[in-house]
Amino acid sequence: MNNTLNVDPAELAKFSELAHRWWDPESEFRPLHEINPLRLEWINGLSPLHGQRVLDVGCGGGILADAMARKGADVLGIDLAGKSLRVAQLHALEAQTPRVQYREVSVEALAAEQPGSFDTVTCMEMLEHVPDPASVVKACGQLVKPGGWVFFSTINRNAKAFMLAIVGAEYVLNMLPRGTHEYARLIRPSELAASCRTAGLDVLQTKGLQYNPLTRRYWLNEDTDVNYLFATRRPA
Ligand code: SAH
Repeated sequence: MNNTLNVDPAELAKFSELAHRWWDPESEFRPLHEINPLRLEWINGLSPLHGQRVLDVGCGGGILADAMARKGADVLGIDLAGKSLRVAQLHALEAQTPRVQYREVSVEALAAEQPGSFDTVTCMEMLEHVPDPASVVKACGQLVKPGGWVFFSTINRNAKAFMLAIVGAEYVLNMLPRGTHEYARLIRPSELAASCRTAGLDVLQTKGLQYNPLTRRYWLNEDTDVNYLFATRRPA
């Protein structure tokens, strides 16, 4: 990685532009609000959050970070879009969320600063916006304590994912702004698994996230064709 920051300024600009709407559940961020209880319970079931020190990488407006703090974790949320972090901080103040902090720092820089210091690391819906996702996975592996969990979620790259996550979500259902996801940046589960192995993380569980646009319901199952999640662990 040398000294160049692993970031695409155009990606950050997309999120900064919408930053004031992070906590509007009917905004562009509605899907994240809707899936939040699902992912939170999945994470908490595998790695009970109460009393843990948790890092949320690419936290945005803090939808997941805030919810994990409310489960009793001590949470640090990091992102490189300062505007989103200010919105996250303001929300924590208004909602009086305890034990949550936000910081503008790259995951790679934080890994150099405080390796092995988090019980759990989460990195959700972020890898597909980064030029070098393997570098993020590696840094997450360095930040977690031995025996700790690292959770990822992202979008698969195939014809079905293109049809549902890009054409469907951005052009047909207008759930997401057009241009939110770029096909070439999407990540196959085999590629994420390879990055995890290189980072010294064992992949312990893989789940698919399904959505029914008619009922607006989300659920987890074994079908990783489109959106999917990985639960990984650094060996003790
Ligand atoms: N993880 C949050 C937000 C997902 S949106 C959630 O699931 O609710 C993607 C986030 O990744 C945005 O907040 C964006 O600013 C952030 N992001 C994009 N590139 C990044 C980078 N290189 N480093 C850190 N965050 C980044």
